Amino acid sequence: MTAPLPVEGDVVDLLRELIDIASVSGDETTIADRVEASLRPYAHLEVLRDQNVVVARTRLGRPERVVVAGHLDTVPIAANVPSWTTGEGADEIVWGRGACDMKGGVAVQLSVAAALTEPSRDVTWIFYDNEEVQAELNGLNRIGREHPDYLDGSFAVLCEPTNAGIEGGCQGTMRAEVTLTGVAAHSARSWMGQNAIHAAADVLRRLADYRAAEVPVDGLVYREGLNAVGITGGIAGNVIPDRCTVTVNYRFAPDKDAAAAEAHVREVFAGYPVEVTDVAPGARPGLDVAAAAEFVAAVGGRTSAKLGWTDVARFSERGVPAVNFGPGDPRKAHADDEFCPASDVRSCREALLRWLG
Ligand SMILES: [Zn+2]
Repeated sequence: MTAPLPVEGDVVDLLRELIDIASVSGDETTIADRVEASLRPYAHLEVLRDQNVVVARTRLGRPERVVVAGHLDTVPIAANVPSWTTGEGADEIVWGRGACDMKGGVAVQLSVAAALTEPSRDVTWIFYDNEEVQAELNGLNRIGREHPDYLDGSFAVLCEPTNAGIEGGCQGTMRAEVTLTGVAAHSARSWMGQNAIHAAADVLRRLADYRAAEVPVDGLVYREGLNAVGITGGIAGNVIPDRCTVTVNYRFAPDKDAAAAEAHVREVFAGYPVEVTDVAPGARPGLDVAAAAEFVAAVGGRTSAKLGWTDVARFSERGVPAVNFGPGDPRKAHADDEFCPASDVRSCREALLRWLG
């Protein structure tokens, strides 16, 4: 029989136990088994298991349902498992792989899921696998395809690290290729050709002169960016190149969908062929829905815009507004010296209890 985790004990001890169960992406069976075994005994939770995704939900017939989700996997271990702690009291810090991204959040989820037998709104707790690898393996993505009802709700919280503040929505990201063409010639008679790499100067100048917008969406300000992230051209040391490609990455605020983002990139590079190679739209913060407003009030009202792309977008594309809220500094995610302040874990737990209690 799989041993349950101490979900009713101290949430920081629970975090340490979670870190000590290695769960690098693709190897989440043990931790998913432990999570499932920990929640099965609770009569107020319906527990569903699908591969290495565990869903636990209340069915109290409340008028509103919210989703609180977190991933169980981590990036590879860097001699930082098992966990250890330094400091005491308010200065206590938990170290180890996943402390920040995002077993601190998972510990909060488990602790609150067990403690709240009668939440004020119905809650779906989701624990999923394979977040740190390709999107096609992502457990939340798969559940969205195969059991879309598991993700139903009027609002979602993803417990990714945010220093225990609310980071609303996320920006979209688009990659595009701007192609310059010329006429190939022997470089000994360069005047016979037309140099496509030289032609890229105008594209690069437009990028250098570009002033990225700061876009307010639902009260949060998203700072955009449009940058060259690659350039290729030239086939030999004695040939005038007839082709040069500049790859650009546009990080766009969630007031734009993919089509609007593409239209903007085409406008910036008007006169040149532009091909979009990859796009993932962002997510509006959705702080205008009632559940979100109460969430902000319970947490203490500190909100900022999420600039990176996260799985909140998977909720947003289903029409469920979502925010990031979890313990730990996101800049320590994936770091060899990954850590999480114990005080963050406790304050996130208390905030969720206030919101859902
Ligand atoms: Zn994460």
